[in-house]
Amino acid sequence: MPDVGSLAGRAALVTGASRGIGRAIALAFAREGADVVVNYVEQREKAESGAAAIRALGRKAIVIRADVADRRQVEAMVAEAAVEFPVIDILVNNAGIYETKELADMTEEFMDRMLAVNLRSVVHCTRACLPHLRRGKKGAGAGSVINVSSVLGRHGAGGTSAYSAAKAGMVSLTESFAEELAPGIRVNCIAPGYVQTDMNPWDDRDPEEKTQILSDILLRRVGQPEDIAEVAVFLAGESSRWITGQTIVVDGGTRF
Ligand code: NAD
Repeated sequence: MPDVGSLAGRAALVTGASRGIGRAIALAFAREGADVVVNYVEQREKAESGAAAIRALGRKAIVIRADVADRRQVEAMVAEAAVEFPVIDILVNNAGIYETKELADMTEEFMDRMLAVNLRSVVHCTRACLPHLRRGKKGAGAGSVINVSSVLGRHGAGGTSAYSAAKAGMVSLTESFAEELAPGIRVNCIAPGYVQTDMNPWDDRDPEEKTQILSDILLRRVGQPEDIAEVAVFLAGESSRWITGQTIVVDGGTRF
């Protein structure tokens, strides 16, 4: 297949790419011509099927297991990826977990796990990729780091404090890393609203709940992983060459 598309010839590493938003981003990148490292922590079959879909598009895909909360596993993943892709153009810190607990029920273990998977992972992955990330001159051809936060990182909500705090931390890391890594590497963030995935199922909600959720969304539908993936393609490529340190809210116009 010829090298065409807005990401032709680029190499991307997407964490948590076995399903949901991460899988959609990995496939969208491949459709735009990028080769992809598909990270997963469980459900290897799903990660392999995503990689097969990428290869069917004529791109390279390698599948690597690593728990992004574990620095050593992340370093081993990046070392393995670098054998095939010594230069990484795009890193997407997408892996995450969502669980709710009220303050009164919050344990140290719960808080630690939420912060480790959703926030510390961003430091581990970005730091481990740093020697491999493409460095452009004054933004031209720059490497691109994309963090997947949440609207809950902008507006905390009852029961979600640990998750929301971690996602707010991602917005902050985005701004700090953008400053530290400029001008050669751009760092941006996407804050999705309600996206229909295994993390946030839609079909098993009761009709009243669905009506309530949709009434808070101006565009009157929940998001699909592809709605986020297309913004990730934009942030990964040349069209966003003068954008860094920003968080783009992609939520259909959700009112809080
Ligand atoms: P999902 O549960 O379908 O996918 C999450 C992926 O992350 C899975 O592949 C999972 O295996 C992986 N993962 C979890 N822990 C990991 C770990 N320790 N190491 C490596 N991989 C790990 O959820 P999704 O909806 O696709 O979520 C993707 C990202 O988008 C998450 O960061 C999530 O917080 C964020 N987000 C989702 C929504 C939504 O409504 N779905 C809204 C806002 C933000």
